[in-house]
Amino acid sequence: MKHRIAVVGAGIAGVPCARLIADEGHEVTLLEKSRAAGGRMTTRCGDGWQCDHGAQFFTARDPSFSREVQRWCADGLAARWTGRLVAFDAAGVAQPVANHDRFVGAPRMHSVVAAAAASLRLHTLQTVTGLRHVDGGWVLTTRERGEWPDVFDAVVLAMPAHQAGVLLRDVSPALSVAVDRAAMQPTWALMLRYTDPPGAAFDAAFVNGGPLRWIANDSSKPGRNGQSVWVVHASAEWSSRNLERPVAAVCDQLLDAFNTIVPGEPDACTAHLWRYADVAKSTADESRGFVWRGAERLGLCGDWLAAGRVEGAWLSGRSLGAAMLRDMERSRW
Ligand SMILES: Cc1cc2nc3c(=O)[nH]c(=O)nc-3n(C[C@H](O)[C@H](O)[C@H](O)COP(=O)(O)OP(=O)(O)OC[C@H]3O[C@@H](n4cnc5c(N)ncnc54)[C@H](O)[C@@H]3O)c2cc1C
Repeated sequence: MKHRIAVVGAGIAGVPCARLIADEGHEVTLLEKSRAAGGRMTTRCGDGWQCDHGAQFFTARDPSFSREVQRWCADGLAARWTGRLVAFDAAGVAQPVANHDRFVGAPRMHSVVAAAAASLRLHTLQTVTGLRHVDGGWVLTTRERGEWPDVFDAVVLAMPAHQAGVLLRDVSPALSVAVDRAAMQPTWALMLRYTDPPGAAFDAAFVNGGPLRWIANDSSKPGRNGQSVWVVHASAEWSSRNLERPVAAVCDQLLDAFNTIVPGEPDACTAHLWRYADVAKSTADESRGFVWRGAERLGLCGDWLAAGRVEGAWLSGRSLGAAMLRDMERSRW
């Protein structure tokens, strides 16, 4: 029997979940509040420049995710990044970092998500603001369209914990409280554009001390064209203390810190705040990597349920999709 499923959130967790279920012939509607699929795997694009200001690269340890990454590489949607990587200790001393396999989406970080979402029924610029359990299904409301015309047999929330918690408050208060315990931390990201690229003996660095956590020459990634761009991430601690700071002040302070490592005057500097950048502490049902409430037909997936990061999010979404298909088969809903 064919079912109607709503997946809310078109990131690297939601899209593979939707894909798996749609591939079995079910009618899947994917609702996304942003302009495009990708979530935190995204690339800011401007006139003649681009910059991955969210996820920087991904690694693949799980065999099923490794196979998927190989497929992405074969299809030209991802590529190995061989940038020279170092780590600065608290005293500012750089040590080389072992060259594990690191991958990036190509030519943009979101390429892998966008390709998987291309043949799905994806509605962008739709922010889900409410869920309602009606007899025999779920009704969703979006800020832009009001009540969605379809009644869904099941709903998946594929988004950061706090955002899922807000939507669950009225329909499942206990689950909402559990979800809210998964603490996510912020990151301020700086994008720096240069006509004269700064010279550096490395392409990217983990920074262990001071306000910064990570710096990278974004233009050193495969398939990136246009103006020379560096990206700078502040530490979670600094970002938390400066959440409400004006963008200009954030740019000034983080650029000063960056210039102590990589001197040079950028032509332009912009900043973006990721309020829910990564997982500080995971709680709800982490051992399974997702939540599936068969009785309510309600699922949750995302990096916060699966040890964080791109690989965890993908595994979380795929595992939830597989569990839902098993449940449909077993209980004949
Ligand atoms: C600055 C930064 C650096 C990072 N660096 C790395 C790294 O180097 N390596 C790595 O592996 N990982 C990294 N990560 C983490 C990685 O990006 C995430 O783990 C992964 O992308 C999470 O995917 P997701 O699908 O779970 O969530 P998301 O990507 O957040 O997707 C959730 C989607 O849901 C949408 N959404 C939310 N609420 C609603 C709503 N109410 N209605 C409709 N849509 C909604 C959002 O717009 C979003 O598109 C980084 C993240 C950040 C922010």
